[in-house]
Amino acid sequence: MRRNSKSTAETVERGHFNDYLGRHNLRRTQERIRILQEVFSTHDHFDVETLLFRLRRKKHLVSRATIYRTLKHLLDSKLVRQVDLGRNRAFYEHALGRENHEHLVCVACGKVVEFSTVTIQKLQNFVCEEFNFRPVRHSYQILGTCESCQSSS
Ligand SMILES: [Zn+2]
Ligand SMILES: [Zn+2]
Repeated sequence: MRRNSKSTAETVERGHFNDYLGRHNLRRTQERIRILQEVFSTHDHFDVETLLFRLRRKKHLVSRATIYRTLKHLLDSKLVRQVDLGRNRAFYEHALGRENHEHLVCVACGKVVEFSTVTIQKLQNFVCEEFNFRPVRHSYQILGTCESCQSSS
């Protein structure tokens, strides 16, 4: 599996975000940059509360409202996308330069595993052709228990 080094990836994303802010006449505030850096400091899937917690732990005092607004910009600029993990709140993940993938979600420990297979892509093509449907995005997740949760129960 190929993965860019963290510093390189963050620089690319920061450049992309700066361009976006410039195009939309938005200021590069310290808060926005801090949120961007925190989002791209790990590869985890995250929700707003986790992001808020991570920022506060580093003594960055950003409000929940600022996080929501900045997330909207990150979504608009296609740096981040929303991902359905079968829970009753929205989760997000890095989108720039990442291939489409699906998720296995452990309902016991919350672990998320990503996978991709051409079979799902082929199935999507087949179904969409059958119904003359033009796909925009799709979401597929399997909820269950991971290997270590199975053995501990
Ligand atoms: Zn588990
Ligand atoms: Zn993912």
